[in-house]
Amino acid sequence: MRIVVIGGGTAGTMAAAHITWALPKAELLHVSSSRVPIIGVGESTTPAVPRWLDQIGGPSFAELRARCHATTKRAGCFEGWGRDRARFLHWFQPTGEHAYHFDARLLVEVLGERIRAERLDAFVTAVRSDGTHATVELEDGTRLGCDYVLDARGFPRRDDPDVQPLRCIPTNAALVQFSTPLAPPAECPDVTRNVARPHGWVFLIPLGDRTSVGYVHDETISSRAEVEADFEALLHEEGGEPLGERRLLRFPNFVRRTTFDGALMRVGNTASFTEPLEALSIGTIIFQLRSFTQWVRDRPSGARRLRPRPRPRPLAGADAAADAAAARLASFNQGLASYVRRNAVFLAWHYAAGSRHDSRFWTQARGCFPRAAHDRALAADVERFLELARSSQGLRVDDLDRIADREQWVREVFPRLRNYRPFGNFSELNVAQVGQGIGWLPVEEEHHAGHR
Ligand SMILES: Cc1cc2nc3c(=O)[nH]c(=O)nc-3n(C[C@H](O)[C@H](O)[C@H](O)COP(=O)(O)OP(=O)(O)OC[C@H]3O[C@@H](n4cnc5c(N)ncnc54)[C@H](O)[C@@H]3O)c2cc1C
Repeated sequence: MRIVVIGGGTAGTMAAAHITWALPKAELLHVSSSRVPIIGVGESTTPAVPRWLDQIGGPSFAELRARCHATTKRAGCFEGWGRDRARFLHWFQPTGEHAYHFDARLLVEVLGERIRAERLDAFVTAVRSDGTHATVELEDGTRLGCDYVLDARGFPRRDDPDVQPLRCIPTNAALVQFSTPLAPPAECPDVTRNVARPHGWVFLIPLGDRTSVGYVHDETISSRAEVEADFEALLHEEGGEPLGERRLLRFPNFVRRTTFDGALMRVGNTASFTEPLEALSIGTIIFQLRSFTQWVRDRPSGARRLRPRPRPRPLAGADAAADAAAARLASFNQGLASYVRRNAVFLAWHYAAGSRHDSRFWTQARGCFPRAAHDRALAADVERFLELARSSQGLRVDDLDRIADREQWVREVFPRLRNYRPFGNFSELNVAQVGQGIGWLPVEEEHHAGHR
């Protein structure tokens, strides 16, 4: 089996590392162009990342700390969000789980050492797929035929007809820069801070030697000069000095109708994107890669060659098998798209109670979640989310920070849960934490906790 991975950013590098581990017999070709820079952000993660690194034999935390300025992360700290509280923590679950912060560019170098592949520095001009085989065309005219191609070339073109915008997320750009190390909150040092500001919100990600700062906003509401001025004000309040260049990154929030066609699989920013509020992208890459390699393992090459038929005809023999293949593929794509849409709905909800800032951005952002209920593509997910929010009422979450390990979590928190179905990357416990944090869900009194 021949697989081509395109892209040397976080997604392409992770894809090549994952295939090296999961499909060791595959002939792997890793193509990327040194002419096209990687986006170079993506420093905050979820616990899926340490789990995946351990599984594939990737770098340990000690190596990441030494080579990628890594630190540990136990929660997200929301400052100035919602109605009542100055700040709240959104813990991973089980509480006691941890994730990492690291320098995304250095991670690519370290992970690259684990890849077993033929490497090519070349510009790809086209990728063609008929759903059973793919061809990658290079600038010099070379054509690389393969069984599968993983395309991780970064954000798609604006006019790509397969892209469905996720309008429920109220941001589309970020001003990013490093700063000298900023002090973490005293009560919980191992966090990504998400600070509400008049033009949006700012992530503060503590790395070993500096802090990564990003002012996430809506370019159609705030001018670059306004955002720059408040960026400076924040750094001044925090006592940080800017380091290196400041960059404006524009991003689309979107999901694809077809992430995988049977031979061409999109991975990373080219497959889907939601703003970095809950640091979901790298975890989503892992979800995409696990889904892909599972698909390949479940499909011996003979079965895969049955090309899905576009229109239903009377079932018979090979036709029936082809229809079954088409149904499996549709379900595969729906699973990936639903995961991203649900994460988008949960992100939109973070804004639903506004913030301490009474600005144009926040007025607009507060309306995103209610508007999502009228978006045909999102309505069913919003409905399901509201069910989850109702069932999470009464989960008392203020005491989660004292839960130290998995055993205590299983003993004390697990019995309180009622709804075990995940919602994208999240569960009712995440909904309860954010909902109570922003003041959208009432906080239950202590004596109710034992009855859940
Ligand atoms: C402001 C911001 C903050 C973010 N913060 C986080 C975070 O905290 N946590 C998180 O998980 N994620 C975060 N992300 C998402 C992050 O961008 C992704 O996790 C990650 O970088 C994936 O990038 P990528 O590899 O898909 O694309 P890129 O980094 O853009 O890589 C694309 C690769 O494709 C190659 N390429 C492109 N075109 C061609 C071509 N024609 N031929 C050959 N090669 C080509 C390029 O050379 C490059 O190697 C953030 C994103 C933004 C915008």
